[in-house]
Amino acid sequence: FSDEQKQFLSGFAFGTDVARAVSRLPVLSNSGGSGDNGTSITVGGKAEDTLPVGPEKIALIAQRETTKSGKKLCKEEQAKLEKNPLDMWDEMQARSDRGEFPKGTDVFLQKFHGLFYVAPAQDSFMCRMRLPGGLLHAWQLAGLADLSDRSAGGYLDVTTRANLQYREIPADQAMNILYGLRELDVVSLGSGGDNIRNCTASPLSGIDSQELIETIPFAKRMHHYILNSREMYGLPRKFNIAFDGGGTISALDDTNDIGFHAVRVNADRATEKFPEGVYFQLTLGGITGHKDFARPTGVLLRPDQCLSVAGAIVRVFVRHGDRTDRKKARLKYVLDDWGFDKFIAAVEEQLGMELPRFDDSLVERSNVEDRLAHIGFHRQAQPGKQYVGVVLPVGRITSDQARGLAAIANDYGNGEIRLTVWQNLLIPFIDDADVERVQERLLELGLDYRASRFRAGLVACTGSGGCKFAAAETKTHAMQIADHLQSQFDLESPINIHLTGCHHSCAQHYIGDLGLLGCKVEKGDDMVDGYHVHVGGGWGQRQGIARLLFESVAFDEVPDLLAGIIRGYLDNRDQGESFIEF
Ligand code: SF4
Repeated sequence: FSDEQKQFLSGFAFGTDVARAVSRLPVLSNSGGSGDNGTSITVGGKAEDTLPVGPEKIALIAQRETTKSGKKLCKEEQAKLEKNPLDMWDEMQARSDRGEFPKGTDVFLQKFHGLFYVAPAQDSFMCRMRLPGGLLHAWQLAGLADLSDRSAGGYLDVTTRANLQYREIPADQAMNILYGLRELDVVSLGSGGDNIRNCTASPLSGIDSQELIETIPFAKRMHHYILNSREMYGLPRKFNIAFDGGGTISALDDTNDIGFHAVRVNADRATEKFPEGVYFQLTLGGITGHKDFARPTGVLLRPDQCLSVAGAIVRVFVRHGDRTDRKKARLKYVLDDWGFDKFIAAVEEQLGMELPRFDDSLVERSNVEDRLAHIGFHRQAQPGKQYVGVVLPVGRITSDQARGLAAIANDYGNGEIRLTVWQNLLIPFIDDADVERVQERLLELGLDYRASRFRAGLVACTGSGGCKFAAAETKTHAMQIADHLQSQFDLESPINIHLTGCHHSCAQHYIGDLGLLGCKVEKGDDMVDGYHVHVGGGWGQRQGIARLLFESVAFDEVPDLLAGIIRGYLDNRDQGESFIEF
């Protein structure tokens, strides 16, 4: 062990607050940048400005920007130029009829329809849906379960974007899945590839006595805005948007490219321009896999302004995102290159109006998050009603369990099911009198409404069981780690453990109290699953990027190592000091 590692294991003696002791966010430069310098080219005698929005115009923009930089388009951009991914339906149908999987760049292009060919991890498709705000209805969940039994693996995975995925879809079932989803009023278009992914919101929207504003309606409107605007399919890379209502369960808005976070302007701070009320703070550029949170812009929006502003931000990104290097193709890199002032000015030009600025320090940001509110029974804002947060072991439910949950939502709730970014789900509107019966029904399904402090904060990506990028079997390891730790410790507050199989960081290992990044480790003559172990991540008010503490630890040593770290915390903390504050 290095001195620092020893220090850590003996009780985090290096600092008083892990989150604040880790690396800080980079300082933005306002200089430089490669903005629109007026270069223009024409195609077929038509200037860019005269072309209608859509793939042709986007292709032109891509070519122009690349010509300016003197670099070559990356292969994915070339593929999009040669074939519009939205024009593949016939081709996908024919391939499915022949029982074939796509080849070459068609594997990438087909992701625009939510279909991921995941070989060699599995010789099958994964299909990701879009469920804005994580909200679905019992009839949809029951229908999705039936569809999974007919055409997929007989189970459903809840993702870290409050969404659902099918796995183990044979080639000849791909189109049955896409048609079946549409019949259930569920869309998969744009859930993969270079698109705006599932729009997330606070899962307690409308039932949380602490929230400032309902946010699921915003996520739903944003979803329809995206689906019905051709330019929204022309991005250089994927993109995430979240709405957080400032309530009890975080939507992790600061990990998104665009984060809208509800805040209140109180009467004593109100101005003519900003009367007392609820607004959304605009933050930009979150991508924790690249060690960056969304940063404040100083822009404060009325709720009714959010959609058009998001649309303008995406349009500026479409025009100026990097199309030559996939690793630099996210919004963060435009912001790093330009600085926020220049970017916001471009958004204002796109919108044709000035964005309202407000001193961030003058708005009241609520601090009511409860890290256990997504598990178990809790009171709603509505008198006599409760919601239950159901524990789903690393996000997976069988089709039978899904049908059982749908029945509970119908029999005892209002038929709604709400998925969370914590890979579980909530059933709202349960009468106080029915709580005991719902508890029994959940246990009968082999599910639970109780979780240890480790299970409550356990997040794992797909891992090598279904993802070709994975260096480790994250889901299985997550369960083994939780079992190991909960048999030894009884904590009063949760410790988040995030396991991610590769640097894509789908499980956001940099924001976990303990963040594990999969790797292969040499052990004797073998290469075995292992992890790089990070500590000190957080989000929201406890924002921090976890720092690497142990490198290349074989998995069979990881549970004991984590136990040692937690033991150090328990032995040396001050009274009431949480893990993140330690
Ligand atoms: Fe696959 Fe990597 Fe994402 Fe895990 S983090 S699901 S291994 S791409």
